[in-house]
Order: sequence, then structure tokens, then C-alpha cells
Amino acid sequence: MTGFRIDRRSLLAAAGGLPLIASAAGAAIPKAEGQPLAGKFNLPDPPKERMRWAVVGLGSFAVGQMMPGFIAASHARMTAFVSGSPDKARDLGTRYGVSKFYDYITFDRIADDKEIDAVYIALPVALHAEYTIRALKAGKHVLCEKPMASTVAECEAMIAAAKTANRQLGIAYRVHFEPNNMDAIKRLRAGEIGDLRYFSGEAGFVANPDYPPHKWRLQKTLAGGGSMYDIGIYALNAALWTVDETPVSVSAVYSTPANDPRFKEVEGGVEWRLRFPSGISAQGASSYCWTYATRQRFFGAQGSISMDPASDYNQINMTMQHADLTPVTLRAGNPAVQFSAQIDAFCVAAAANQPHQTPGEMGLRDIRIIQAIYKSADANGQIVTL
Ligand code: NDP
Repeated sequence: MTGFRIDRRSLLAAAGGLPLIASAAGAAIPKAEGQPLAGKFNLPDPPKERMRWAVVGLGSFAVGQMMPGFIAASHARMTAFVSGSPDKARDLGTRYGVSKFYDYITFDRIADDKEIDAVYIALPVALHAEYTIRALKAGKHVLCEKPMASTVAECEAMIAAAKTANRQLGIAYRVHFEPNNMDAIKRLRAGEIGDLRYFSGEAGFVANPDYPPHKWRLQKTLAGGGSMYDIGIYALNAALWTVDETPVSVSAVYSTPANDPRFKEVEGGVEWRLRFPSGISAQGASSYCWTYATRQRFFGAQGSISMDPASDYNQINMTMQHADLTPVTLRAGNPAVQFSAQIDAFCVAAAANQPHQTPGEMGLRDIRIIQAIYKSADANGQIVTL
């Protein structure tokens, strides 16, 4: 098998440069910042020594999705748990053969632990920056959950810490490793629906203030923002991945139900629209007030692709249709592999000290645009130039 290859043009983009590409009309369009880096999934054979991981924050997503992903991965092995709940950590340690435990106070001692190469951070958003930076200072690579952090300044500090430590920082945009989403992008790039003209994406669920994983999501000091931070970010990230241009402006309006006591600190819903230099527009909506839904549609000059759900853990439905309006069902693989695929890709990149496919720069870009979405919504939909 060949090694994991990094696309050099995209590397430049992640490094902060903005290489220019030619649009269909011939004009120079600034390529999107923070775009996914690698174009190849030819991972090398599993090494004898797998990358050794500490998992930080043993909550619903880490336990329910990522730990099975670590077990299914070929290049990774969990060696330590970091938790404020020692009993839970020990129980999980028994289940997964992990025998090293740290808490949030002893965390910095991982610097001396030779059995930890990388750290996966699955804490509430407001804690991402602190634990990412502490892990990088301890000399470990970091895969941090989305959204990257509460503020642009925190994202920048995380990227700077990775550079100083000469370690890799990836943001866990798992959908970039999901076979059907990858297939949709491949078909778009291959022109199967003609030139892309418009993207729309909606994502939401009903936030329950009595359910602990939702409780912190409704507190700005822990969540950073509301539905757009947590679930709306999928459609935003998909729009940027798809269109692959730097947007010029954004407008947005809130759609939070009036007088809903859940939404004193963060928005319950927001609808946004991005405009791109080539004339393509993308729009999306996120909500904490809808029944669970994740949907994406791509409209081209000669056809369209619909995904519903688009970013689920286990189920993705995808159809493509052309002028005869007959939907063709597309199935590119089992969505459940996205967790192990993401972990393996990170391991291979970090082992070569190469950037992860979804790097810190991508997380920063998305937080920057979400902040502009909020700015526009705060001003009742005024267009904000990016
Ligand atoms: P949970 O509330 O279930 O888990 C968070 C864990 O963080 C807790 O269980 C706890 O673990 C630890 N923690 C430390 N300090 C606090 C605190 N002050 N309040 C609450 N928890 C604390 O949340 P999720 O698992 O749903 O989300 C965790 C992260 O994963 C978030 O960044 C979220 O955005 C991301 N996520 C990503 C998804 C994806 O598809 N990529 C899907 C869902 C979430 P302990 O008891 O071990 O200390």
C-alpha cells in the first residue's frame, strides 16, 4: 500500500495562505481557508506500535461513539482516561483494558507518561482550548472535538500552541471520513450534477435542559454558543467543503421561539446565508427546537444530490436526480466507519508529523464565520462582510 499523501496546495491553505484557483468563468476565486488537506485514504498497513491515546472527558459521545471507534481503529490504542468521575473511569478502564487514570488537576502529568502519544478531547466546548493547550505543552498531539473553541482568540491560541510544541492539532470533523459524504463530494467534483449553484443544509434536535449533555449546551459559559455552535456547524462546514471558495459575506436571522425559558443564554435557532465570489450561495439552519434532523442538498446545473440524514452516526440516505426527476439511491459504505477512519487518519498524519485532514485552521475558520453569523443575526439580518 502507498503512504498517506498530503495535497500541497491545500497544505498552503491550512498554513494561512490563500492560493488562487480559476473559476469556471476564468476569474480568480480565493480558495477556501482551512479546507480538508488530504485527498487519499490509502492508509499504510497498521504499524506494530499503534499510536497511544488518552481520552479526556468520558461523556456520552466519547463513550458511545469514539471509544468503539478507537477499538475498531487499526493505528490507535487507548492507554489512559482523564475524567472527573473516577468510578466511571475505572469501569470503562476494565471494559477497554485501560489502566492509567488522570483527573483534571493531575492532567499535566501526562507530560511524563511515555505511554501517551496523543490526546482526544471530548469536553464541553469552553474547556477545549485549556485542555488542548495543556496537552500540547505536555508534548502530545491533539484531536479536539468540534466546535473548536468558544472564541476566535482561543482557536488562534490553540493553533499557536501546536506550532510552538511542534505537534499536530486536528478538529474532529468526523463527517470528512464518512464514506457517503466523501462520495457526494467526489461526485460533485466529477461534475455528475454539473456546476454547483446552491447548497442548503439543516440540522437540529430538541434540547432537553434536564439531560446533562444538553444542560451545558444551554449555558453560554460552557457551550460558547447555541445550536449553530453545536449542530449547525455541520451544514456550515459541508457548505465550505463543497463550494471550496472563501465566502465574501454572510447574513442571518435568529429563529428562537419567543419566551422559551431554555434559551436565556444561547440561541435556540438561527438561519444563515453565505455568498461566495463565484455567485454560488449556501444557506442553512440549525435549531434546538426541531425533532432530530440532519439534511443537505446540493443543486447543480444538471442535477441534484440530497442527503437525509446527512451527518448521522449510523445512517446516511443519499439520492441523486437529473432532469427526468427519477431519484437514484446512492450507497457508498457504512457510515459507522467514520469514527475509526477519522482516528486512523489522524494517527497516520501525526506519526509523520503532518497536518490532519481537518486541521485547527478549519476549526478557526468555522468559528470565525459563526461569529459573523451571530453578528448579522444580532443586527436583524444585516449583511456582514467577511
Ligand atoms: P457530555 O456532557 O456527555 O460529556 C462531556 C464530559 O465532559 C462529561 O461527561 C465530563 O466527563 C466532562 N466534563 C468536564 N467538566 C465538565 C463540566 N463542567 N460540565 C459537563 N461535563 C464536564 O457531552 P457530549 O459527549 O455530548 O459532548 C462532548 C464534546 O463532544 C463536545 O465538544 C461536543 O461538541 C462534542 N460532540 C461531538 C459530536 C460529533 O459528532 N463529533 C457529537 C456529540 C458531541 P467526566 O465525567 O469523565 O469528567
